[in-house]
Order: sequence, then C-alpha cells, then structure tokens
Amino acid sequence: MTDKTSNEVNEVSEEITKEVSEEMSKEVSEEISEEVSAEETVKPVLKKAGFATIIGRPNVGKSTLMNRMIGQKIAITSYKPQTTRTKIRTIYTGDEGQIVFLDTPGIHESRTKLGAYMVKAAKGTLKEVDVILWLVEPRQKLSDEDKAIIELLKEVKTPVIVVINKIDKVKKAEILPVIDLFSHEGVFHEIIPVSARTGDGVDQLMKDIFDLLPVGEPFYDEDMVTTQTEREIAGEIVREKALRLLQEEVPHGIAVTIESMKMRSRKGKGDICDIEASIICEREGHKRIVIGKGGEMLRKIGTDARKDIENMLQCQVNLKLWVKVRRDWKDDDTQMRSFGYDERKL
Ligand code: GDP
Ligand code: MG
Repeated sequence: MTDKTSNEVNEVSEEITKEVSEEMSKEVSEEISEEVSAEETVKPVLKKAGFATIIGRPNVGKSTLMNRMIGQKIAITSYKPQTTRTKIRTIYTGDEGQIVFLDTPGIHESRTKLGAYMVKAAKGTLKEVDVILWLVEPRQKLSDEDKAIIELLKEVKTPVIVVINKIDKVKKAEILPVIDLFSHEGVFHEIIPVSARTGDGVDQLMKDIFDLLPVGEPFYDEDMVTTQTEREIAGEIVREKALRLLQEEVPHGIAVTIESMKMRSRKGKGDICDIEASIICEREGHKRIVIGKGGEMLRKIGTDARKDIENMLQCQVNLKLWVKVRRDWKDDDTQMRSFGYDERKL
C-alpha cells in the first residue's frame, strides 16, 4: 500500500519538473541548473515511513521491546499474558523517518470469543504491514506452535525479522545455535538477538526495520507517540494495576471503562482531573475479590492507578472506581464492542 503511494508521488513530481522546464526561458534555466547541481552535492537522505508489527507469545517481551524502541512507557507491561488487548499504534519518529508500530495480541488459540478475536486481529495486521517482528526467547528447539507460525508467515509474504529477546538471560555461546535454528528455515529476512530489558541490540534492530520500509512522508506528526487517547491510556493503566495486584485470582476476566474524564480548574491551585471508571468482571465472586476486604484492594488499585495517570496528565487526579458484573462478557459480541473490542474495526 505504501509502495503504491510513493510511486504515484514520483510520477507526479516528474510531470511537474517537465512542465517547469518547458516554461522556463533560456536565461533563467542556466541559473537554475546551477542551483540544482549545488543541491545534488548535499545529497539529502530520503526519509522512510511504514508500518511494523510485533508478534510473539504472551510474556516474550513485546511491550517491553516497544517501550524500549520508542523510549518511553506507552504500552502496558505486565507479568500477566494477554495484557495488550486492543491494537495500540505507537509511533517512532527519528532522523531516518517514521515507524508506526502496531502492538498486536499474541497468535494463539483460545476457547473464548475474545481469543478468536485476538487471533483474527493478529493475522489481519500481518498483511497490512511492511515488516513483521517475530519475538522469540532463546531456545534450542522449534515447538509445534513455532512451526505453525512459520507456515502462517510464509503465507502472508511480509518480510519477517526474528528477534531473539532476553539474551541477557543466557550465555553468549548459547545464542549462536538459536540463530542457526531459525536461519535453517530459510524464510527470514534477518535474525537479531536483543535484550529489550538492557537495550542491547535494539539500535541494530531499528536499522534493519528502516531498511525494509519504503521511502515516504511520515504518517503522523513527529511529536505524536501514540494514537491512543489519554482516556484510553487511563483505562489501560487501571486495568494494568488491577491485573498486577490481583495476580492469579481473576485471570483476564476484567475490562475497564472510563465513564467520565473532565478537567476542572481550581482557584489558587493547579488543575485537577476528575475520572470515573468501572472495572467490569464476569462473576459476583470476582467482584468481591476486586473490592477486597473492607474495600482495601479497590483502594490500592485506585491509588496505584491515580499516581500513573497523574504522571501522564501532569496534574492532580481524582479517581473514582466502581466494580460491575457483566456475566460472560468475553463471549458476547455486543458487550465486547461496548468495551472497545470491535471486530468490525479491524
Ligand atoms: P508481552 O506479553 O510480550 O508484551 O511481554 P512484556 O513486555 O509484558 O514482558 C513480559 C516479562 O518479560 C516482563 O516481566 C518483562 O520485564 C520481561 N522481559 C521483557 N524483555 C526482557 C528481556 O530482554 N530480558 C529479561 N530478562 N526480561 C525481559
Ligand atoms: Mg504486552
């Protein structure tokens, strides 16, 4: 898609050059050709712009890697798998150009509707991007799941960079056999060992991504780092805190909706942001756990989330949390849409 656009741009600019040179009188054309050759000696580097997506199993380090590449915390990292549910667009703009990252949910099977939605979301993005980053951990054998993913990647034909993450956890000598294992498949553009945690290898990875992007104008303003709104991020923050604090007790069965979010100015003091949010869970039993004894758990979630939201908004936040039960929301299309997981938007 991006290729086509840049071709069109080239054609148009050629036409314009022709018109201009035909219109010019002989006197000025000499002057201009001097100017042109002067410009040519500077050789401006053509900027690139395109899309990348990161796939890989839950917990392999996708969010950590993206945060590392962007240089600040946007995606939510967590010990829980499947934390990043919606398609976040994160944007890197540098001297080389612009990379728009789509943080996709992992490709893996699941019995619930939410699982099927996630698989479809991941497959869909594979075809629209210019480069796929497949994040794996250093390992000595390909699993059946790996093999299935390789087959899928062959099908979509988008160039793939295998990123071997968490190399800080293994000895250097153990990395080479892993590279061999993947290069043996003969379908990958590049295999790069990195540590998203320490940043090791990440510069090289960025270079390799840019190599695969088409020349083109940036898609977004250079000061934009995410297409998520502050409201959406606030919701993700509440969900992250809840998942962290609840540990294994309420597995994946929660969603968060921001009911209202309003800035209010106060005389003599700075602005304050009033936020009302609901934590939606599947069962009454979960609701009790989320609230905790005497409301203690909910207060903790609220305090932790408020601090991060204050940090993001750079002002004081007044956060009110409610807990609601929506039975089996994960299996219901209409309910999923109302929580922001809309299959039609993919
Ligand atoms: P995701 O589910 O793929 O988005 O994974 P996350 O980015 O949330 O990371 C899962 C866990 O792995 C977190 O505890 C990270 O701190 C950890 N992690 C991510 N990258 C690295 C790495 O390069 N080295 C080590 N040792 N841990 C990492
Ligand atoms: Mg993640």
